Amino acid sequence: MRFIILQTATEGVSFFDSPWWRFITLMTQAVLVALWLALVFWTYKDAKRRLTDPLMIGVSVATSLFFPFIGTLFYTILRPPEYLEDILERDLEIRAREQELVGGANRCPVCRAPLRDEYLVCPRCRRRLKYRCAACDRPLDESWKVCPYCEEEVEAARGKSKTSIKEDELFA
Ligand SMILES: [Zn+2]
Ligand SMILES: [Zn+2]
Repeated sequence: MRFIILQTATEGVSFFDSPWWRFITLMTQAVLVALWLALVFWTYKDAKRRLTDPLMIGVSVATSLFFPFIGTLFYTILRPPEYLEDILERDLEIRAREQELVGGANRCPVCRAPLRDEYLVCPRCRRRLKYRCAACDRPLDESWKVCPYCEEEVEAARGKSKTSIKEDELFA
């Protein structure tokens, strides 16, 4: 028993002293160092896509750098689950959908064409939307009784606009 142990021990020593072993160790070390640096770089790239705070990105990269492999593992566990661009895209989508729901007021009630606040008529179907104030020329809502900009009574302006639209319709 003792003989066998001795024998393997001497064999082992001779192998571990061989240039082959030194080469293998060196290669393994090189691969590990390359992998470690690649993981640090990957952490930096990934953190930049998930974090906005430069300090947090720095902490992530430092963790990956100073605790090889384990640090990257911790970062992978603790990082935010979503990419920033995904969050942004989702926010934009939600906002667009909200605008579509709320934006009923900003669409023509007849043809649903998108409208701007200052439009007087719908550019698509010619429906009258607002009236021009006779005094200050600003667009006034149909329900307004007085111009909020210049205090002009708007009944007169409405009458004028109505005749003008009738003329428009006649010529159309
Ligand atoms: Zn319209
Ligand atoms: Zn006015």
